[in-house]
Amino acid sequence: MRKTYVIGNWKMNGSLAANKALLAGLKAGVPAAKANVAIAVCPPFVYLPSVVDAVSGSPIGVGSQDVSEYDKGAYTGEVPVAMLKEVGVTYAVIGHSERRSLFGETDEWVAKKTVAALAGGLVPVVCIGELEAEREGGLTEKVLATQLDAVLAAIPNPVPGSIVVAYEPVWAIGTGKTATPEMAQETHAFIRNYLKKGGEAFAQDTAILYGGSVKASNAAGLFAMPDIDGGLVGGASLIVEEFVGIYNAAADQFGKR
Ligand code: PEP
Repeated sequence: MRKTYVIGNWKMNGSLAANKALLAGLKAGVPAAKANVAIAVCPPFVYLPSVVDAVSGSPIGVGSQDVSEYDKGAYTGEVPVAMLKEVGVTYAVIGHSERRSLFGETDEWVAKKTVAALAGGLVPVVCIGELEAEREGGLTEKVLATQLDAVLAAIPNPVPGSIVVAYEPVWAIGTGKTATPEMAQETHAFIRNYLKKGGEAFAQDTAILYGGSVKASNAAGLFAMPDIDGGLVGGASLIVEEFVGIYNAAADQFGKR
């Protein structure tokens, strides 16, 4: 059975004091993993070691919000896989729409980072998603196919379960607008079918997370859908009750699978 995940993307938020309070709340709210749902938080790079320390002994894992495609050397500002592994990071969010739109990351760049993460033993959480105008123009599937093609071309024989895909409609990120469960399911089913390019087992075993204004109040409806395998959560991951509520909704729904 494929794995399920609830992953919090803190974006450029936090402070030593705020992280301490948030993580204490999360550790109290999620004392043990439930129903095999993995939980993780992705703080800014500078906080990664202290967050790894703070969650040690708890079910909470840690991810980075980006990773370099390069190993080491003259790449000012970049952070490679090996350094992330060294400090205890497990996941790397790659190709978040904010990195694509604000920092010019291309599909090819996202693919290279995915290859680097896989080669170095980080679990890549590859983000894909369409803009509002693209959805309105009937281009959603074309956009997602192009984004997936770049990654699939770079990993010719993908190991089932080795990557996580996060479908995040850009119009739903940080806007409070959520795709309805039915709308999200339709797109997730398309993505799963498209992943068959990497083999049937790869398609079946790839967790496809939904992201875009997931909250404790809408999580259960989304997670009840057969092709939604968890959430990538932005704003609500900074609020203990919300993130724990989302995790509990995931455990309830995925426990029924
Ligand atoms: C995100 O940052 O990936 C995200 C989905 O944000 P939000 O949950 O705030 O929409």
